[in-house]
Amino acid sequence: MTIRTHVLGFPRIGAARELKLALESHWRGELSEAALEATGRQLRARHWAQQRDAGLDYVTVGDFAFYDQVASHIQLLGCEPARFHFAPEQSPLARYFTMARGADTHAAHAGCGHAHHAHAAGTAALEMTKWFDTNYHYLVPELSPQTRFSLACERLLAEVAEAQAQGHPVKAALIGPLTFLWLGKEKTPGFDRLALLEQLLPVYGALLDRLKRQGVTWVQLDEPILGLDLPNAWRSAFESTYWQLNQVGVNILLATYFSPLEENLSLTCRLPVAGLHVDGIRAPHELISVTDWLPAHKVLSIGIVDGRNIWRTDLDAALAVLRPLAARRDGHLWLAPSCSLLHVPFSLEAETELDTDIRSWLAFATEKLAEIAILKGALAGHPDDAALAQSRLAVAGRRASPRVHRPQVAQRLQALSPTVDRRDSSFPQRQAMQRARLQLPDFPTTTIGSFPQTPAIRAARASHKRGELASAEYERQMRAEIARAVGRQEALGLDVLVHGEAERNDMVEYFGEQLDGFVFTRHGWVQSYGSRCVKPPVIYGDVQRPAAMTVAWTVHAQSLTDKPMKGMLTGPVTILQWSFVRDDQPRAATALQIALAMRDEVADLEGAGIGIIQIDEPALREGLPLRRGQWDAYLDWATRAFRIAACVVGDTTQIHTHMCYAQFNDILPQIAAMDADVITIETSRSDMALLAGFGQFQYPNEIGPGVYDIHSPRIPSTLDMVTLLQKASAVIPPAHLWVNPDCGLKTRGWAETEAALQNMVAAARQMRAA
Ligand code: GLN
Ligand code: ZN
Repeated sequence: MTIRTHVLGFPRIGAARELKLALESHWRGELSEAALEATGRQLRARHWAQQRDAGLDYVTVGDFAFYDQVASHIQLLGCEPARFHFAPEQSPLARYFTMARGADTHAAHAGCGHAHHAHAAGTAALEMTKWFDTNYHYLVPELSPQTRFSLACERLLAEVAEAQAQGHPVKAALIGPLTFLWLGKEKTPGFDRLALLEQLLPVYGALLDRLKRQGVTWVQLDEPILGLDLPNAWRSAFESTYWQLNQVGVNILLATYFSPLEENLSLTCRLPVAGLHVDGIRAPHELISVTDWLPAHKVLSIGIVDGRNIWRTDLDAALAVLRPLAARRDGHLWLAPSCSLLHVPFSLEAETELDTDIRSWLAFATEKLAEIAILKGALAGHPDDAALAQSRLAVAGRRASPRVHRPQVAQRLQALSPTVDRRDSSFPQRQAMQRARLQLPDFPTTTIGSFPQTPAIRAARASHKRGELASAEYERQMRAEIARAVGRQEALGLDVLVHGEAERNDMVEYFGEQLDGFVFTRHGWVQSYGSRCVKPPVIYGDVQRPAAMTVAWTVHAQSLTDKPMKGMLTGPVTILQWSFVRDDQPRAATALQIALAMRDEVADLEGAGIGIIQIDEPALREGLPLRRGQWDAYLDWATRAFRIAACVVGDTTQIHTHMCYAQFNDILPQIAAMDADVITIETSRSDMALLAGFGQFQYPNEIGPGVYDIHSPRIPSTLDMVTLLQKASAVIPPAHLWVNPDCGLKTRGWAETEAALQNMVAAARQMRAA
């Protein structure tokens, strides 16, 4: 029995986000290509050395990318879209960044936690979308009947040579051909991208051959789509694909992760490859059947350390899972994190200010390497007893900690009444009562919540955070910002006002900082896309709300106007989705706790006289499980969590929700079941087309389809917005329509915001007059 250890991938951004800094200075023209390449080389060398020093048997080469691994494959496979019209003198790296960021005018930002590419003139960047169910965004390959592949593997081979020169045993890692095609987007209607496979395989074959000739013995091919509901044509393509690739004679480790294999399990285990990696965290229940099905002479790589979360592994529990499996394999057993460590922060070493108890419960990428090595030692019969004991202590400490388990939270959950997620009356009854109370015109106008986060606001917050600006003074400045925002909205003639969120850094962090059960790291950065990183909060314990979080600001704002002031909250599912969550209870349980905390805030806002409360759920859709079979269960608890937060109010209080997209067609019944009185969604970029589903479904409650794209600096004309509203009126009863932008305005400037909103108010007036 041989045990080997490896990772599927390592964070590339660097311990101190060196790659981010280098990239941004390169893009500003301050760092040469050669200097950027040198930074890349240094980071790779450092990360390989770290893998070796941790005792891993292989270092992984091919997981590094200057922007994104899928974009790197587009170049590797020679399929840069022709629409970029690259000039021969452009360097590969310059072309790469053009594909990633567009040419001429490009501004990429994540105003609403989503990544958007805004672009006014020149060549648009490749589209970006989420990598499976993670918060990492990849660049989408564009595929058409004209797509041709060719081998351009110099960068990869050079990286392999680098690692070899540094004395490392190399395992190369690549995205598999079927996953690569699956992730691509068909640019020609009616074209089936699977048709490109035949052409793509020889290129992969040649690539494997080059790697083999360079002395690489193992190549990891990532095929995470084996965890999805695949059409039959895609399933059956696996066998011939891997049969063909296996002819090259290099050992292929087929890597699956993120999701159970289910109906693809026996297919996967029978593929003609030398080894298989499975995700023992997301699919622990499949480990036995994989061991049964996978021929004994093949390598089984078990992902036993969570690559998606930040908790220290319970090593005893992991060993209990591994021992019987190891005993049954006379071939090789490999150990690894469940998936690439790209999705967790770099190292705990920098977290010197973190509470020491909580710190002892965590493991970031660096610490996970050590865990893999400890597990190997224990399985191989030479356990590191000190390390095991320390881990045992930390795990037991976490399990028993009164900071994790708060009896009053459990008691409250037990005592929930069956009507906790129901409004008192039906929507039509509430609608009548709310109309009587609010006295709004037809086509009421509002905004999504945030107004521009000006440099002055950011500077004040930064200096308050550093302890330089006293709290009283910070508060005075924020109250003045709120007053300015209210004054501007009154002058514009908007019907339902907002306070503008000046006091909020981020829509999740703002609440996490005030709730019990959350902790924030100093350097826990995770790459989101390109040079952009996020620092998700960590939910470590039972959540509760010690005190009101938004009431004072909202009441202040309401005191400045006679118009209704809309209270603004982030919903439980979004808070959950954008945090690292507990692994000692189901996600649903954590969502419920957050829902109850938000419910308290909703009740306090209502009690303070606020008549309209918006609970944002922009992450509801992205939380959908990868497997459709799990959608219902998720949507059940997710929509219930929303209702629990919302349904504390009386009939005359109007509940809004907001989501930054309009792809609802497959989940409309559940969106309707949230029973928000008003939902605002993104629709302007799709020209209202996506609203049709709501019409066909006869969505029962009121809707504000966004009439202008806040991701673009372009100021829409009144006519543009009237046209959109007319389209909307054709599919939604006009009496149910609201008028608002697509999303919050925090990333925009005031001048453009006021100009656009002025036109928007004029558009609503025209609709009323018509
Ligand atoms: N209320 C938030 C804002 O306006 C909503 C942001 C979002 O949809 N992600 O900024
Ligand atoms: Zn939004």
